[in-house]
Amino acid sequence: MNVLVTGGAGYIGSHTCVELIEAGHQPIAVDNLVNASAESLRRVAQITGKEVPFIDGDVCDEALMEKVFSENEIDCVIHFAGLKAVGESVEKPLAYYSNNLTSTMNLCRVMGRHGVKKIIFSSSATVYDRDNTMPLREDSKIGNCTNPYGWTKFMCEEILRDVAKADKEWSVVLLRYFNPVGAHPSGLIGEHPNGIPNNLMPFISQTAIGKREKLSVFGNDYPTPDGTGVRDYIHVVDLAKGHVAAMDYLCSHTGEAVFNLGTGNGYSVLDMVKAFEKANGVKVPYVIAPRRSGDVAVCYADPAKSAEVLGWHAQYNLEDMCRDTWHWQSMNPNGYDK
Ligand code: NAD
Ligand code: UDP
Repeated sequence: MNVLVTGGAGYIGSHTCVELIEAGHQPIAVDNLVNASAESLRRVAQITGKEVPFIDGDVCDEALMEKVFSENEIDCVIHFAGLKAVGESVEKPLAYYSNNLTSTMNLCRVMGRHGVKKIIFSSSATVYDRDNTMPLREDSKIGNCTNPYGWTKFMCEEILRDVAKADKEWSVVLLRYFNPVGAHPSGLIGEHPNGIPNNLMPFISQTAIGKREKLSVFGNDYPTPDGTGVRDYIHVVDLAKGHVAAMDYLCSHTGEAVFNLGTGNGYSVLDMVKAFEKANGVKVPYVIAPRRSGDVAVCYADPAKSAEVLGWHAQYNLEDMCRDTWHWQSMNPNGYDK
């Protein structure tokens, strides 16, 4: 299958390109490189031995997308393109609503015109209402988001659901990711955060390599076993494989379906620090800091539906996640920059 991968040069997109190629598909990437480097796709070619055709452009540019669909035979779309920094979305809400919603609506319009009616969308555990009991199931309550980024995911889900309702030929799969971490075991592709990382794992690995002095642990007074926040970390290669499984589903069903991509295990911040130190023989200095606003105490998935319906489950464990993060970080101390 020819798969248009929007945001294909990004962290999850580049890993998904590898898995698509390994499953016999042909990805075509479109990315405006607002948070990525085209080097990631050269590395994908190095890993797989296959080039990924790349269009440097903005999914919000409808004329460009029209051209992409006219010039390429596309069977389905995986839509990763989007802005994703929670804190920045609070400061620049319009940039987030505009980019994330416009890209999704343009894409659907152009897809419809070209009779391509199969889309997988990158959603997030952040769409779940923070008052749910754990673990989160696909039918747990959604909404009550704490920031504009979360609302863009919530709204894109609604848009795609309505598109599938209005035209029964559409097939829409909404994948709700938990906390993607790690890197390809080759160490050639991984996460390359812009500036100071917001997320835990890149902050840990940049501290271990000496780029950051110490990790601030945001709160140790949560109602969790060690008082620090608990999340469901998932290896990015498992996540990427989840997209390949979802594509098989997409091509044999119509309508809309939602799946969690998580492991079902919850680890605390201090669990992550200790696991990282043990797996890699490094030190991660940390201090306890105040809670970060908007954070929930605990968040983890019930991945049963993905296992049952998609036949997918995570295979990498916490040690693998820590080892592969460090492998990428130590091979590429500056990410894709020289
Ligand atoms: P990323 O920033 O590495 O990838 C997103 C890519 O989209 C980037 O390469 C960026 O340059 C590109 N992009 C953004 N706006 C674009 C536009 N208008 N046109 C073309 N390209 C555009 O992020 P990621 O971690 O790989 O995330 C991929 C998707 O998964 C995003 O939609 C994100 O919101 C979602 N997601 C990520 C996480 C996470 O923790 N990483 C969790 C849940 C959901
Ligand atoms: N966290 C932390 N220090 C950091 C970054 C994150 O203690 O520098 C904690 C955060 O409070 C949360 C967990 O690590 O409990 C995961 O945070 P992340 O931002 O990676 O993911 P999310 O909050 O989106 O689940």
